[in-house]
Formats: sequence, C-alpha cells, structure tokens
Amino acid sequence: MQQHDSSPSLIDLGKRYWLPVYKPRDVVLDHGKGARVWDTEGRDFVDFGAGIAVNALGHGDPDLLAALTAQAGKLWHASNVFWTEPPLRLAEELVQASGFAERVFLCNSGAEANEAAIKLVRKWAAAQGRAPERRVIVTFKGSFHGRTLATVTATAQPKYQEGYEPLPAGFRYLDFNDVVALKAAFVAGDVAAVMLEPVQGEGGVVPAAPGFLKRVRELCDEHGALLVLDEIQCGMGRTGALFAHAHDDVQPDIVTLAKALGCGFPIGAMLAGAKVAEVMQYGAHGTTFGGNPMAAAVARVALRKLGSADVLANVARQADVLRAGLENINRELHLFDEVRGRGLMIGAVLAGVHKGKAGVILDHAAAHGLLVLQAGPDVLRFVPPLTINDEEMAEGLRRLHAALAAFAAA
Ligand code: PLP
Repeated sequence: MQQHDSSPSLIDLGKRYWLPVYKPRDVVLDHGKGARVWDTEGRDFVDFGAGIAVNALGHGDPDLLAALTAQAGKLWHASNVFWTEPPLRLAEELVQASGFAERVFLCNSGAEANEAAIKLVRKWAAAQGRAPERRVIVTFKGSFHGRTLATVTATAQPKYQEGYEPLPAGFRYLDFNDVVALKAAFVAGDVAAVMLEPVQGEGGVVPAAPGFLKRVRELCDEHGALLVLDEIQCGMGRTGALFAHAHDDVQPDIVTLAKALGCGFPIGAMLAGAKVAEVMQYGAHGTTFGGNPMAAAVARVALRKLGSADVLANVARQADVLRAGLENINRELHLFDEVRGRGLMIGAVLAGVHKGKAGVILDHAAAHGLLVLQAGPDVLRFVPPLTINDEEMAEGLRRLHAALAAFAAA
C-alpha cells in the first residue's frame, strides 16, 4: 500500500525539480530480473528497450553483480594519478577483442567517448601539419553522436543543435549511404575523418547499406583520412557480432563504445588503432572518473559475456523471432512500411497515417506491460537484452500485439 501511494509523489518530484529535458512515461521502475522489470506498484513489464540498448545482459545478472560488489568492497575510485587493476585488464581485453586497436581511453559515457575521438582526429591532423580548416570531420544525416557541443555538432540532426550556436567548426554532413556524395566531399582535400554509426540508432535504426563501410574505408585510405566508427549503440554484441563492423570486414582507425559496455554501470571507451594510438601524449586529454575500478570491473564481465558464443547465438535466434513476430503483427494490423535493422537492433517504420505516432504507441505499450523505444516520431525501436529468453520474447510479442491492436482501434 505504501508503494501504491509513493509513485505519484515521486513523479511529482521529477516534475518539480528536474531540468525538464526529459519526458519519462509515468512509470517508476523499481527492480528487474532478466528481461522483466517491475514498477513501484508491482506491475511487471517486458523490457524491449533495455535502458536504451544498455542492459544487454538483462537485469540482475549475477556475474555483473558479483564483480561490482567485490570491487565495491575493495576500492571505489583512484583517479588516473594511480593505477588500479580493473581498468588495466579491461584495456588489454578490449584491445585483444577488437583485433585492430592498440590503445584505449576509458571515460564515462558515449558522448565523452566520441568527444575523445573527435579530439584525437584533430590532434592527428594537426600532427600531420594540416591547417585547422583542413581537419574536417564528415558525418551523416540522421546520425547521433551525443550531446556535448562537439558531439552534438557531429550529430547531423538540426533538432539537437538548435539554439546552441555558435557550434564548433569543421564538420560536414552528407546523406547516409551516399557514396557519390562522399566521393565529392573528398575533392576539396580537407577531410580528416569520416565518422559514422554502422547502424544508425536514434536516427531511425538504419543500417549502413551493404558494401558502404568498405567503400568509406577505401575512400578514407585514398584521401589520407581516418575512419571513426561510433558503436556506442550498435556495438557489444547487439548486431550478433561483438563489434558491428565485423559484418562489413573493415578495419577502423577509431571505435567508440559505451552503453552495453557497462551493462548499466556508466562507462565509455575509445579504441585507437595503429595510425592514431601514439598521437595523444601526456596531458593531451583526461577525465577524473575514466577507468573507475568499479565500472571497469563490471565492463570486464560484460565484455566476456557479450562476446560469448552463447550470447551471440541468442542474438541471432531471438532476432529472427522478433522480426517474424513483427511481420506477423503487421500482416494483421498493417501499421509498418518496413521492419529493418541488424541483430537485436530492430526498427519498425510506421506507415502512412500512423507516422508521427510512435510516442502514442509507446503509451499503449506501457499500459500493456511492455517497454519499447522510439527512434524519432516514425520508428518503433526494439533493443531488448541480448540474453532475452524464449518465454520473455513470446510474452513481449503478445503484449506488443495487444498494444498495437488497441492503438489501431483507438
Ligand atoms: N552515440 C550513439 C550512437 C548513441 O546512440 C548515443 C546515445 O544514445 C551516444 C553516442 C551518446 O551516448 P551518451 O548518451 O552515453 O552520451
């Protein structure tokens, strides 16, 4: 009963005291297990959103919990004025798992990892003797790279940039998957790097077209530019491979990770390949919390488990079930133009009159005990835990069907 009374007042606290930059649904989540979470009123939800592609091992993973509590009992923080073991081991494991990286910079979020990548590109270009105006970073429309001033400028979506001008200089935006435009962008000889998400997340769950990444790599090589891959959302097993670019058989120069790297504990990482690994030297960059031992202890477990054959096989299997379920629902309700994505990163593109209604559908989903995300107003985004089991997937699809039927009938 106590719990019953607390939810409205808790939400009121958010409405009164939080900077109103978010609009959470009126659900106060309390605890979770696997791909299920419960709110403070005891209602259960199947979790197809995983805290925006973060809780990749679901909720309450015992190995993550053991690693966190063991480290919490020893040392919480040391700064980078001293070494601690977990981030040292994590860096070695990330380098080994990546197959391309030589060095790692640890930080606390996706934006921070991309900020480090942007700074590294600029430092590399400077070290090559390029004038500032020849250090352009190409990014793609629909991308999302974060909310700091530099990363929001890399994010080629005006809605995130409006009002924050003057923005940092030196970014150029192209249509995603447009090789002709990319070739043309190199003509001026001022491009230092191309930065992209192998699967655009916030921009609508849009995978790079087959062969696009390879073509980008070739053009970067031809013109002496770096390839930066933002795998913050699509990395760490989500597409069915530990690194999303593994599907495309390319070697990037820089990869950024966050989200599922900590499975819910904040951490980010920038992985630097041979061309750039020695560019930033003492004092060139830093952060107080980067390499925090608790975050690193958790990420070591996440990396090991998310790269395991079991988890990756589950991604492939459940992705087929989820896609088939969405197609089945669509045969009956005709709500989607397209179901797209890769692995357990799937977007359902709303058709015709339903465009713009993703938020309304999310309300119906929550009312039916399902947590789903949108990627813009026109796309439903499904990024469940990579360990979701058959029962959870089936129940989630049942609830989705009921929610969509209610939406269609409204
Ligand atoms: N890059 C991508 C592809 C993302 O999806 C996000 C977050 O959604 C970010 C960067 C920013 O990460 P963070 O919110 O941890 O700063």
